[in-house]
Amino acid sequence: MKKHILIVPGDGIGQEVTEVGKKVLEKIAAKFGHEFTYDEALIGHVAIEATGNPLPDETLEKMRASDAVLFGAVGHPKYDNDPSAKVRPEQGLLKMRKELGLYANLRPIKLFDELLGASSIKPEILRGSDILFFRELTGDIYFGEKGRKNEGDTAYDIAEYSRYEVERIARKAFDAARTRRKKLCSVDKANVLETSRLWREVVQKLAPEYPDVEVEHQFVDSAAMMLIKDPKRFDVVVTANLFGDILTDEASQIAGSMGMLASASVGDSTGVYEPIHGSAHDITGKGIANPLASVLSAALLLDISFGLKAESDAIIAAVDKLLKDGFRTKDIADETTPADKILNTQAAGEELL
Ligand code: ATP
Ligand code: MG
Repeated sequence: MKKHILIVPGDGIGQEVTEVGKKVLEKIAAKFGHEFTYDEALIGHVAIEATGNPLPDETLEKMRASDAVLFGAVGHPKYDNDPSAKVRPEQGLLKMRKELGLYANLRPIKLFDELLGASSIKPEILRGSDILFFRELTGDIYFGEKGRKNEGDTAYDIAEYSRYEVERIARKAFDAARTRRKKLCSVDKANVLETSRLWREVVQKLAPEYPDVEVEHQFVDSAAMMLIKDPKRFDVVVTANLFGDILTDEASQIAGSMGMLASASVGDSTGVYEPIHGSAHDITGKGIANPLASVLSAALLLDISFGLKAESDAIIAAVDKLLKDGFRTKDIADETTPADKILNTQAAGEELL
């Protein structure tokens, strides 16, 4: 298969981990006889430094022209204490999502058995957890009208969803459930929110088209509790932007470390694949960042954008083997990990495949 992949490392450890993700793609292409070509582009703080723009037009054009994007992270601590800075790295990310119509954010929460002890949740509760989240990414309270009234003493953010927006993400989730354990949990707050009532109505209306998928509706407060109490009961979860933001961070704890979790953002055009973690400037340049989230993002890219399931599974199996062989990056190591099994970022990539 011939494909063109754009590498967009961005800021901080994005640079280090994306290099490993790319290396793994190269190894897979060689192993399975595919012809992948690569290009690179700027986003975030590095793009501001080079061009004054967090998402240069050239980057956007390259994204549109490629078959998939492997993305790193954006962010720089210098903006943390300067909330008034007009040009910010995160603007590049939001603009990218909007321009590419990336309305569905997929986060697989899969726990590798070897890391059962790395989570703060009991192993017997966690074992076998495998959840796929679909978070809506372009609507909800983030994008509605916001402002102040009463001389600034009252603030408001309006949440809005259209039938069309709910239906397109729900369909993606139903389709995914079909390829998995055929269970879909739609999370809302339909007892109090009108947007949630529409959400539930749309999902209920679609359900008869997917008679093989078992659908349940949960209120977000109850879902938040069940995620920790009994994560195994979930297969595919679909939810709105705000609830998805919170629930997926909560669920990341099931997998032990931020450094292990990948995500895919898909929609109208090129899909973007990235670790859920950010730029982590506290460890940038030290060579200790866990690259497995980027490697697993590359696996998602192959599966979702190219339909290369066997290749994707080969990457996941390689990560599993690396862990079974006892290798750990610092974030997932503990006092029982022998010193010669602790790998730096690059070495972890070399052990794979
Ligand atoms: P951003 O502002 O871009 O979100 P951040 O500094 O908040 O970046 P995060 O990436 O959100 O950092 O992660 C929080 C912390 O988790 C980091 O400071 C880092 O110590 C740790 N961490 C995140 N990703 C990794 C990784 N891949 N490997 C090891 N540690 C990580
Ligand atoms: Mg962060």
